[in-house]
Amino acid sequence: MTNLMSMNLLGGIEAGGTKFICGFGTGPNDLVTARFPTTTPEETLHHVIAFLKEKAGARLRAVGIGSFGPVDLDPISPTYGSITSTPKPGWASVNLIRPVENALGIPVGFDTDVNAAALGEAEWGAGRDLSDLLYLTVGTGIGGGAIVGNLIMHGLVHPEMGHIRVPHDRARDPFDGVCPYHGDCLEGLASGPAMKERWGAPAEELPADHPAWALEAHYLALGVATLALTLSPRRIVLGGGVMQPHLFGPLRDEFARLMNGYVRHAAVTERLDEYVVPPALGNRSGILGALVLGAMLT
Ligand code: ZN
Repeated sequence: MTNLMSMNLLGGIEAGGTKFICGFGTGPNDLVTARFPTTTPEETLHHVIAFLKEKAGARLRAVGIGSFGPVDLDPISPTYGSITSTPKPGWASVNLIRPVENALGIPVGFDTDVNAAALGEAEWGAGRDLSDLLYLTVGTGIGGGAIVGNLIMHGLVHPEMGHIRVPHDRARDPFDGVCPYHGDCLEGLASGPAMKERWGAPAEELPADHPAWALEAHYLALGVATLALTLSPRRIVLGGGVMQPHLFGPLRDEFARLMNGYVRHAAVTERLDEYVVPPALGNRSGILGALVLGAMLT
């Protein structure tokens, strides 16, 4: 095998606030991953780069990074590839592309973690063969990535779908919300930290018949309905730690109630269980999407 022919692997980095997942491969069937806790930028990036260098090395042809944010995605900006503002100590203004590029000497793609997850699902998961897809994660925060006409949507900065405003009936739910900017935006009312603070236990520990879930389904359906009506996706994928399997049924029911038959397409009126779905790639949407970000440069 020539050197050129052996250079067929893609690398990926899913940069999160608590852990970095990195991996390499050609897709879901041969993906090799490792995870490192998010400590200081120097230490975490050292581990990530060493893993890719030692395990995949010269066989890598590109790397993609899907990062927590907000991030600078403007290729002509001097701070392109940086995390801009984050409460995570030491990580504000850290450039993620440069150290990886310098160490590996190959092209490095960059996008948000949720855009990467949307790309992963579009390439190998629930969005295969679909030109328009919405991916939402509901966990530590709420974020979304949209593929519109086969292109990942960016815009001025990048969408911040978790921070859309949703009706908040304080008689039903007096909780103020946890978003430091908006209080009761969607993330403020329906993220994992919001559930934990409102109910005194993490979402994962609340039983399926707990009243928390009807309220959660209501808020998420309000958010999903707004995004479905705005972006008209052909499928909506919901991932993240809060999206327990039993939440999908009540969420679809509430979504149908809010839509009230207005969008007359069988995908919404008859096949809702195929329209609002969990990620087909499980918790690997993000890291696999990072591989796609790398592939897009080659
Ligand atoms: Zn907010």
